[in-house]
Amino acid sequence: MLEQLKKQVCEANLALVREGLVIQTWGNASAIDRPSGKVVIKPSGVPYEKMKPEHLVVADLEGKIVEGGLKPSSDLPTHLVLYQAFPGIGGVAHTHSEYATSWAQARQPIPCFGTTHADYFYGPVPVTAVMKDSEIASEYEKNTGHAIVRAFEKVDYTAVPAVLVANHGPFAWGPDSATAAHNAAILEAVARMAYFTLTIHAGAEPVAGGLHDKHYLRKHGSNAYYGQAKERK
Ligand SMILES: [Zn+2]
Repeated sequence: MLEQLKKQVCEANLALVREGLVIQTWGNASAIDRPSGKVVIKPSGVPYEKMKPEHLVVADLEGKIVEGGLKPSSDLPTHLVLYQAFPGIGGVAHTHSEYATSWAQARQPIPCFGTTHADYFYGPVPVTAVMKDSEIASEYEKNTGHAIVRAFEKVDYTAVPAVLVANHGPFAWGPDSATAAHNAAILEAVARMAYFTLTIHAGAEPVAGGLHDKHYLRKHGSNAYYGQAKERK
């Protein structure tokens, strides 16, 4: 079932390791096949160097396992909430990458200090509210998803394809698992640069609206002109 998607998701998980975003087993990537509503996700606790497409787990949107002999990543319920709430996404990646996680632990959104950030994220990368004890005690991973969705009540999830879960770490997404992994890598780079920006000058101001819009809109939307036409997403 979904052999091609399993290959893509396996590759996205390996990309997180290759990009230095994941050590040990601190991360996971998934993708959804929208026509069937089936989600392919990394198995729990399998070392990356041994992971093959056939190890991946297939679940439905209710979390019922429909294929695979291994347990899915324990974060599966978070991924499922995101697929249900954000119909435009096809892949999700979660890491504990060092700089993005540091912002998450500080419970601070990442301001848009420059054009690198503005090229990929339209405005600051939001941080979720701190979860209540009741949300942690029961259905913690599902409630993590709900906390993310609440952080996007006034933010367009297609224009800001990442979030910081307070005291935890980043989730990123995109039209497919490769783009989700790519966005997780970009997020880590902008988190690192924002940290250095504030270290150099604690009073640094976010990039002004005109330059911000120029950079985001030249790559995204109907009037995009950056790069070759087929490369634009
Ligand atoms: Zn995590």
